Amino acid sequence: MSQDGTDRVENVVIVGSGPAGWTAALYAARARLDPLVLEGAPSREMIPGGQLMFTTDVENYPGFPEGVTGQELMDRMKAQAVRFDTRVVTDDVVDVDVESRPFVLRSAAGDTYRSHAVILATGARANWLGLENEQRLAQSGGGVSACAVCDGALPAFRDQVLAVVGGGDSAMEEALYLTKFASKVVIIHRRDELRASPIMAERALNHPKVEVAWNTVVTEVLGDEFVSGLRLRDTVSGEEREMEVGGFFLAIGHTPNTAFLQGKVELDDEGYVITPGQWRTETTVPGVFAAGDVMDPYFRQAVTAAGTGCMAALEAERWLAHQEATGAEEPASATASEPV
Ligand code: NAP
Repeated sequence: MSQDGTDRVENVVIVGSGPAGWTAALYAARARLDPLVLEGAPSREMIPGGQLMFTTDVENYPGFPEGVTGQELMDRMKAQAVRFDTRVVTDDVVDVDVESRPFVLRSAAGDTYRSHAVILATGARANWLGLENEQRLAQSGGGVSACAVCDGALPAFRDQVLAVVGGGDSAMEEALYLTKFASKVVIIHRRDELRASPIMAERALNHPKVEVAWNTVVTEVLGDEFVSGLRLRDTVSGEEREMEVGGFFLAIGHTPNTAFLQGKVELDDEGYVITPGQWRTETTVPGVFAAGDVMDPYFRQAVTAAGTGCMAALEAERWLAHQEATGAEEPASATASEPV
């Protein structure tokens, strides 16, 4: 039984409510698929709308020359999808049965949804150090961010000493990006060797504005309204010191929100959903599509997530049409069977 107590079978259920989810909903709704979005339930770590809800100003989403807050952008995307009669339920999906046809989704509230097609758009979460002041300042727009490309160009960071924690390609890329605005960028890395690819590391290390604090961990983020400094510990000597900074950026990886998909669709080693076809969003289960950060460890931008959301809806629409036309009981892969 579904949430409304009927045997209703949806055409497409979209799981997640970031740019990928709302764009998929918009396209599916306009294709008259009457989509249902399970937008997630608010928790301490995630809220409907996803990572952009934790961002202050978004200045790189096309169409907003004056910038837009992450929250407003998500509200507007949702409103646009709802305008075309997208139905929305505020609940988390905890299980998907991909063996049954139609697919069966179970929610945290104990409801069951049946659907011919599913679009996974649950996103990823940036990893944080887990320090007390870190999350508070990140959420209040207090100069702590897990996305330099999103936030680095804000006026508050101009001509400041900015710190980036991490030793991978993201940290190098973010540090280089921040050199456009900062007076100095300090990469804080817990070891004496970078994880980043040699070319990225070389570029960052050779930049005159970049310094590296090797064998160093951040033990405290300082600042009341806005970050003012970091307390650091040398992992070799154990020595503690403080460093004044005007901005603090984290680049210590992301974790895709795919715990409920383990063993259901193929995931890569880091838990991202695999979409085997080039320029396709179909997963290893025909009829299940993925869009946005849940399948993209590389670009991770709102605009690319929205783009893949559009692709997933178009692919789902064509796949559903193909199923209907052929009367297929066992769905075949859209990627294999249908030029979309
Ligand atoms: P990553 O390669 O997993 O690197 C994460 C870094 O954060 C590592 O240096 C790690 O330290 C550090 N770290 C993790 N947890 C930490 C903690 N609790 N405290 C302090 N440091 C911590 O992640 P990524 O840099 O986001 O890259 C992800 C993938 O995207 C990679 O495959 C990367 O090549 C790719 N990428 C490519 C580009 C590009 O080519 N332009 C740009 C960005 C990302 P350890 O080294 O000590 O483990």
